[in-house]
Parts: sequence; structure tokens; C-alpha cells
Amino acid sequence: MELSLKERALAAMPGGVNSPVRAFRSVRRDPLFAKRAHGPYIETEDGEVLIDYCLSFGPLIFGHAPDVVVEAIARATRLGTSFAVTTRAEIEMAELIKSAFPSIERVRLVSSGTEACMTAVRVARGFTGRTRILKFSGCYHGHADCLLVKAGSGVAGVAAASSAGVPEPCAANTLVARYNYREDVSTLVQEYGHDLAAIIVEPVAANVGLIAPEPGFLEFLRAQADACGALLVFDEVISGFRFCFGGWQTLCGVRPDLTCLGKIIGGGLPVGALGGRAEIMERLAPIGDVYQAGTLSGNPISIAAGLAVLRELKRRPPYAELEARTRCLVEAISSAARAAGVVVQIPTLGSIFSLFFCDQPPRHFAEVLDTDKDAYIRMFHRLLEHRVYLPPSPFEVSFLSTAHDDAVFEQTARAFAAAFA
Ligand SMILES: *Cc1c(COP(=O)(O)O)cnc(C)c1O
Repeated sequence: MELSLKERALAAMPGGVNSPVRAFRSVRRDPLFAKRAHGPYIETEDGEVLIDYCLSFGPLIFGHAPDVVVEAIARATRLGTSFAVTTRAEIEMAELIKSAFPSIERVRLVSSGTEACMTAVRVARGFTGRTRILKFSGCYHGHADCLLVKAGSGVAGVAAASSAGVPEPCAANTLVARYNYREDVSTLVQEYGHDLAAIIVEPVAANVGLIAPEPGFLEFLRAQADACGALLVFDEVISGFRFCFGGWQTLCGVRPDLTCLGKIIGGGLPVGALGGRAEIMERLAPIGDVYQAGTLSGNPISIAAGLAVLRELKRRPPYAELEARTRCLVEAISSAARAAGVVVQIPTLGSIFSLFFCDQPPRHFAEVLDTDKDAYIRMFHRLLEHRVYLPPSPFEVSFLSTAHDDAVFEQTARAFAAAFA
């Protein structure tokens, strides 16, 4: 008998996947197998065409396979797929990033957001000569050892490893605070500030559902970092080019020392970037003593895709319209919920929203854990029956793209109405 894709996947790859959320364990369902995708739609191996609000977890601001990106990739491929010497396109990418982020004077291109964050920590440690870093529970910065941690025994303090294989002494150099809790930060800075290399934060938390920074929170982090001599690192892997041509820092005015980028700047191909002040970035090899390298760093195909997206975003900024359209959709979802008597919070920023089944929008991770995650899972299943694909976890945010048009919205609103009922 012929084996199913699921059986073959499970026999060939751990959990049948190359990244855990794809296994759909958090929504307790068999995973999807994608065949192809176009615009707002993803088609599965079973031939189902779904409206996609997961969108590869963020990179696809123009939807799937937009012509500008597909053509840029085709053109670049014909010229060679990897050179391991510097290209004009890499320089242009770095210049474009610099032009969009006033805090960035130098850029290093890498191949993933994980690599960008890992490098940020190393260069911060090299630059400051200090060991500890401070992160926030619920913020995700990729899977480097020192960042794969959770709160230890207290609500704020020395971290514990959140994965087997992360040595405790490595986790113990990371401090964990609650997002939006200034008291946690000032307590930790008071005790450990002399050895703190960096405070790393998602300026908009988007890996535990969507949590906006409260007014003054990021300014406070800037002041705390300055007071103890630590660097402030903004992980803008999701927020970079999502809300404006630049990052959340462009909108809020707080200038970090280092910025991590990924997702949108790769146009759906593997890319990451670390940027920051020249004085810090030039501690990287070959000028400085902090080592970092990559055979495929600045890969010409990835950079061609990313450049095509960034140039298009600059030429015709879609942000105001995307935001207005997202607000419309969220209003439709909210009114469907009200009509059905379902209590749901839908925090929304720009073209990102998330669904929390609870009375008040969560301010930090522990409050997210208190929401009704089973309600999200039920919603996920109902919507899938109506050909609407939300992210396969209550902790991931939903994304809109410029390809989500009125017809897509109408179908989505009807699906939500049916699902809530
Ligand atoms: C996705 C993400 C990362 C990791 O990027 P990868 O390309 O998956 O390694 C890091 N930080 C944030 C905020 C992310 O959302």
C-alpha cells in the first residue's frame, strides 16, 4: 500500500517537519502539506485552496509568489546562485536598510533571524566585555542557546534552559523579565547591571500573540541600558518593514544600538541582518575581534528577492492601506464575535492581529498563558473547514498581505461568523 505523505514525513524527519510548529501539535490536528501558493491563497497536497493568514509567519507582505519577486529571483538565478565574494546587490541591500533605519550605520547580512540575534548577543558581549544579557519572557529571538530560555524560579531573574541540550551555565547568563514590566527591569539592572552586555527585546511582541509595548516602555529600556552601560538590541525580525519603511523604532523614535532583521527583508527566502552603530558593528571580523561568518551569507538569490520587496515597498508604500484594510477585517471579526456572544480580544497593529479568548488584552506572557487556548484551537478548526487558515498555534499572530482583497475579506468574515456561531 502506498504510504501517505504524513507517514513518509514522520519516517524521514523528526516529527515529520523541519520546524516544530509545522507539525500542528498545538492545534491537535494532522499537518497541512503545501503544494503551491499564490497571492492570499495556499493550496494543499489534498487540493484544498485556503486563504492564508499565516503567510510563512511574516515574510510575505505582498502575499505568495508576487511577480516582482518571482521575476527578480529568475533573473538572479541565471547569473549564478552563489559567489562567496561581495556583490553589488548586497551593497544596495545594506544601503537600503541603512536609509530606512537611522540607528543603523553598518549592516551584516546573514541567513536567518536566529543568526542575526545570535550575532547581536556575541557582538554586544565582545563590545562591552560583559557576559549577561536580559530578555523578556515570551519574546522569541531564534534558537541560539543563550536565548532559548524561560523564566527561572521567580517571575523575574536568572533564566532556566527551555530546551534540553542548553547547558544551565549558558542559560544562567540570561536574565528574564516580564514584557511591559519596568519594575522587573530596574530590579535586574540594579543587581546585575555592571555585568549586563545587552537588553534584547521585540519592540512589538509578536511571538505570543500580539502584545504592544506600553507607552514609555521602550524609552525606559533605552534609559536603563544607558544607565548601566548595556547595549539595547531591538529584534525587528517581524516588525522590520511590517509597519512602515523601516522598523518600529522609526515610528516610536527610540534608537537601539543594534537591530536584528529577517523575514520581510528576504522576500520569502532565507535572510537575516544585523545592523547598528559603526563603532559596535566594526568589532565584527575581519576588522574586529568578534568572529562571525557564513558561506551563503548575502546569497544573491535571497538578496535579489529581498531587494525586489524593499524597492517595491519604498516605491509604493502600502502601509496606510494595509492598516485600514486590517482594521476593517478585524472590525468584521469583532462584530461577528459580539453577534454570537463570544468574548474575544483582537489586538491589532498595522497588518498584524491576534485572537485572545479572554476579557482583557494580555500585557505579558503569563497573561497570554491564562487565555482560553482551547477556544483558539476550536476556532482554528472551524475556520479551516471554511477554507481559512490561521496560524497553527494560539501563540502565533495572523498576518495580512497586500494580496488579501475584498473578496478574500468577505469570505473570511463569513467564515468567522459561521465559526463563532
Ligand atoms: C522569526 C523570528 C526570529 C527567528 O528568525 P528565523 O529566520 O526563524 O531564524 C527571531 N526573532 C523574531 C522576533 C522572530 O519573529
